[in-house]
Amino acid sequence: MAKDLVCGMDVDEKTAQHKSEYEGNTYYFCCPGCKSKFDKEPEKYISGAGEHSGHHHH
Ligand SMILES: [Zn+2]
Repeated sequence: MAKDLVCGMDVDEKTAQHKSEYEGNTYYFCCPGCKSKFDKEPEKYISGAGEHSGHHHH
């Protein structure tokens, strides 16, 4: 089971119809709306899992 990073829903990779690849990883989404939000700002959703694990430029 994968997780839709945009809304937090669980998504089954086997049946997921909405997915996106970013930096070599595949992300799954429950709907086209979540996918397009992720596509606009992927890092926002990926780094949202761990506030300090991303790369920040100041
Ligand atoms: Zn979603």
